[in-house]
Amino acid sequence: MKGTVHYEARGNIALLSIDNPPVNPLSSGVRQGLFDGVSSALADDAIEAIVLTGMHRAFIAGADISEFGAAATEGVGLGEALDKMEGSTKPIIAAINGTAFGGGLEVALCCDYRIAAATAPVGLPEVKLGLLPGAGGTQRLPRLIGAEAAVQAIVSGNPIMAPDALTMGIVDRVASGDIVDDAIAYAQEIIGAGAATRKIRDLEDKVSADRGNTTLFEKFAANLDKTHRGQFAPAQILQCIEAAVNAESFDEGMAVERARFAECMSDPQREALIHIFFAERAANKIPGLPKDVPLLDINKGSVIGAGTMGGGIAMCFANAGIPVRVHDNEPENLARGINVIESNYARTVSKGRLTQEEMDKRMSLIIPTENFDDLGDGDIVVEAVYENLDLKKQIFARLDKVMKQGALLATNTSGLDVDAIAGVTDRPEFVCGMHFFSPANVMRLLEVVRGKDSSPVVLGTAMALGKRLGKVSVMAGNCPGFIGNRMLGGYTRQAALMILEGATPAQVDKVIFDFGLAMGPFTMNDMVGLDLGWRARKMMGGSNEVTARIPDELCELGRYGQKNGKGYYQYAEGDRTPRPDPEADAVIAKVSEDLGYTRRDFSDDEILKRCMYPLVNIGAKLLEEGHALRAGDIDTVYVNGYGFPTYVGGPMWFADTQGLDNVLADMERFFEETGDEVWKPSDLLKKLVSEGKNFASLDG
Ligand code: NAD
Repeated sequence: MKGTVHYEARGNIALLSIDNPPVNPLSSGVRQGLFDGVSSALADDAIEAIVLTGMHRAFIAGADISEFGAAATEGVGLGEALDKMEGSTKPIIAAINGTAFGGGLEVALCCDYRIAAATAPVGLPEVKLGLLPGAGGTQRLPRLIGAEAAVQAIVSGNPIMAPDALTMGIVDRVASGDIVDDAIAYAQEIIGAGAATRKIRDLEDKVSADRGNTTLFEKFAANLDKTHRGQFAPAQILQCIEAAVNAESFDEGMAVERARFAECMSDPQREALIHIFFAERAANKIPGLPKDVPLLDINKGSVIGAGTMGGGIAMCFANAGIPVRVHDNEPENLARGINVIESNYARTVSKGRLTQEEMDKRMSLIIPTENFDDLGDGDIVVEAVYENLDLKKQIFARLDKVMKQGALLATNTSGLDVDAIAGVTDRPEFVCGMHFFSPANVMRLLEVVRGKDSSPVVLGTAMALGKRLGKVSVMAGNCPGFIGNRMLGGYTRQAALMILEGATPAQVDKVIFDFGLAMGPFTMNDMVGLDLGWRARKMMGGSNEVTARIPDELCELGRYGQKNGKGYYQYAEGDRTPRPDPEADAVIAKVSEDLGYTRRDFSDDEILKRCMYPLVNIGAKLLEEGHALRAGDIDTVYVNGYGFPTYVGGPMWFADTQGLDNVLADMERFFEETGDEVWKPSDLLKKLVSEGKNFASLDG
């Protein structure tokens, strides 16, 4: 059996210490040890109370991931161990020395009292894997802290630090000294006061206050629609908590939890979420990049360009405690950039999510400079000037002169040739792409772009720095648009073609919204501003692309998008809700006619496939070419950088769930109908179908 629980009698106290390094998951030996430990303590007349703690750095970090999906064959089940604890006639005090997540917190909730180290986080994160706490967490937590706080804690799944857990009532005390000593002293107090047990299952006052209050749960459900739209597990969690409040008995509530848990287990969202969980971790492993490659020391950063991206990237450094110089050649833009950073932080402070002191500290780490040469002492420089290859080449030629030897030179280009940029320096091995997403201080994705000369040290450093900045780093090959933007081109192009062929922007956007993205492509275009692309095309002497015709015409009519109240849609003053606009629809119909299209109806199913399958086909080409290392990497990119619903698992996972043979048949049909190159199925897709395999099989 894996893991154990040590038993030690300390006078009248039995000390149970969980030992399953490094984070004490609830493996077979731990479950058995809990059961045996409590049994021994109950059998010994000299023992009056039990203290349960974790060795190493965690109390219990949760379930044993290696047992996921496998039936537990060894030792007692968790339910049996928890019943034993809850049935104890001697009080059990959980001494939460470190992380108590998931099943770990559920164990603590079966103790009579809880004391936590000040640094210990507790929480029920099961929802993040499409599950719910299935060992009584949904029944016990509301009894301890009330329905509203329990909904918040279990639906978000976020960690709660011990001091907050104390305020909420999840723990009874926060230790001021050694956690075990304090827990034993607490146990002696409890013994001194009569050694009363206190079973959460018997606590009624918190839930009885909300009993019969149907509007409360209607409010929770309405809120869920906003915060967790389309997700299965959160709605199941609500039902469990409603049962905790309204069911006839605790055991009846437990039965609801068991039934809802089983529903979550068999829902496809769970598999998709687990796929993303493992894919994000696998993305760190780069073939050909030795694990022990020595990394560059990054203690100081430099950023060039103080616009949208440069400002956000500087914030990422400051948030991680790394001082960063920011340079812009336009003093006005530099000042504006710093102001934007300051007001971003100020907003976070005003929401109570950052202290003023912390904001001041971070601002002090961001050092604006009008002098290019000041960038030179950075251990890394991230370039974020306009998306123009000639400009970026000029900048890198200058950086090559001023940056100290051994510094990492990164470009934040959205899709330009990293080798062309590296080629102007005498140290292309120190150059790579670091493609942040907007807003850079918020979005979790970082594409690290491997140039042909980028050294393993540089790539390893960029990946590791991403992690330090709180990002999920994914390695991408150097091809136009890298992984994410190259695929996105296929999606936006099909959307644009469909409105020429007869669909409306509102219809396309609704399909995409219902699929789970925050907004469809036309609402997105209106938000970004149609004039940006229009001006860029004009500067290049105009575009012959049919897909440019509608936005160009809209802009000629002064319809720039949300910024001036009309684009593909119209907007009421001070309201960002897109409303269909007959004027825009007339422009679309006219352009479509001019170009010789015969407008026709589209089904929602066709719209979804036309938008999603280009992602799949281009994704497959990226894999074929080696520009993406794994199908899971592509899914990680889409979920973290493009708002693709995590519970659908990313575009490649989505394709697998549709059946690749079906996907291929649809693509072949689209190719026949339109002749569009994007529908020419990739060799990899055809090969997988012929072998009866899917994308997931490639990742092993
Ligand atoms: P931006 O227009 O907001 O900012 C660019 C800044 O660079 C401006 O402040 C400008 O004054 C400065 N600049 C221009 N030439 C300079 C020079 N020679 N020396 C110093 N500063 C100079 O642009 P942005 O949106 O931040 O984009 C910057 C880069 O990031 C581009 O390569 C873009 O493709 C990429 N990117 C943008 C996004 C996005 O959503 N905006 C996302 C990912 C990547």
